[in-house]
Amino acid sequence: MSLAEREINQRSVEETDRRHNIHPFTDLAVMETAERTVIESAKGNYVYSDDGRKFLDGLGGMWCVNIGHGRDEMADAIAEQIRRLDYYSPFDDLTSAPMAALAEALTARAPGSLNRVLFTTGGSTAADSAIRLIHHYFIRLGEPARQHIITRDKAYHGSTYLTASLSDRGYSTDWRPESGFIHHLSAPSLYRRPAGTTEAEFTDILAAEFEAKILELGPENVACFIAEPIQGSGGVIVPPANYHPRMLEICRKYGLLYVADEVVTAFGRLGHFFASEDYFGIVPDIITCAKGLTSGYIPAGAVIMSDEIYEVLSRPGAYFNTGFTYTGHAVACAAALKNIEIIERERICERVQEIGPYFEERLAPLSELPLVGDVRGRLFMMCIEYVADKERKELFADEVRIGKRIWRHCQKRGLLVRPLAHLNVLSPPLTLERGEIDFIADVLHDAILDTADELT
Ligand code: PLP
Repeated sequence: MSLAEREINQRSVEETDRRHNIHPFTDLAVMETAERTVIESAKGNYVYSDDGRKFLDGLGGMWCVNIGHGRDEMADAIAEQIRRLDYYSPFDDLTSAPMAALAEALTARAPGSLNRVLFTTGGSTAADSAIRLIHHYFIRLGEPARQHIITRDKAYHGSTYLTASLSDRGYSTDWRPESGFIHHLSAPSLYRRPAGTTEAEFTDILAAEFEAKILELGPENVACFIAEPIQGSGGVIVPPANYHPRMLEICRKYGLLYVADEVVTAFGRLGHFFASEDYFGIVPDIITCAKGLTSGYIPAGAVIMSDEIYEVLSRPGAYFNTGFTYTGHAVACAAALKNIEIIERERICERVQEIGPYFEERLAPLSELPLVGDVRGRLFMMCIEYVADKERKELFADEVRIGKRIWRHCQKRGLLVRPLAHLNVLSPPLTLERGEIDFIADVLHDAILDTADELT
């Protein structure tokens, strides 16, 4: 018996966890006494707890297990890589075959001239590195004043100091975010757009807000705009038609770079390797990705940048002061390569295009139920927003913990979704079957009705 097993056997996992382990994005006071669900194993679209319960994984781990859990060929690829080369430094002139091959595989699938890759350890470090290299780029270009970054309400770009500052301001109630050069625009939420405006008018309003912000800051001082193609953690906010092309047009007009944070939307979730061009019709200057890159089997992230940016960064006299010990980790790259092979061999993107509309169709009628304000999303990225008053779209008081209440009822019925304040988010493995989509829709239906009863 290993040391870890012996230690854990002495107490229950739950008790050990309670004593020492800090859970991310959680109310720590509640966690002092809260029960734990100990996830012990996972296979395909299901996860299993140590007390014998089986759950359909409506969340894909955390927006990431795109190819489904527990694939033997992933385990084999990872084990083989460890046997051949576990880890070696990627700094200076050192490289490895998996790292080089993955850089080629990503750029071959990325749009436009996005032909250069900097590997990171996850999504936060990808967005953080993207901002640092953009500042570096403008300094090299002789435009050092270009420092300001424009982001949006409801954004989520990560949990480093910089990327948390780039995220929705709601994430920074108990700490001080960077506030000198980060600016937030409105979220492009169709559900909460100004009453009486059409979708096209709403796009105009958002574009005008962007342009006004650039002019207020002075275009010569603004470096970039960063945006998720569909905002994920902020509540699966699908922007109005033509929003991204308009924002890109404004970037081009004033010389800003456009960073697409595709940490959630890449690797099939919206039916394409990358959503920027194939789903939204834009070619950004930089794409950041993580999660589905390895389907969550091993942490990894990447910043994919254009040849034009790279040309400036690589001019003589520059030193690229950015990177991590685990940049291009051989095992993570081997996992990503196998993951890409599986996505293509099993035609997972095509599958999402074919089955995703059924997911949208089966969830849509939930909007007729009490408590439900909006059902939205695209393909394998969906969300339900709950409201106390449907007419006025008024939210429940925080203490009601509406998302969590419904989540609890789902969990009792064998479905895991993500509870956010007044939302339940769904981003299942892309291997989900039609019958499992029916199961999700039925469980949510019953869970919502039970919760409505509970609240009356
Ligand atoms: N960007 C987006 C759009 C995300 O959804 C996330 C995580 O949910 C991140 C960045 C941060 O990624 P990570 O948690 O791998 O650092």
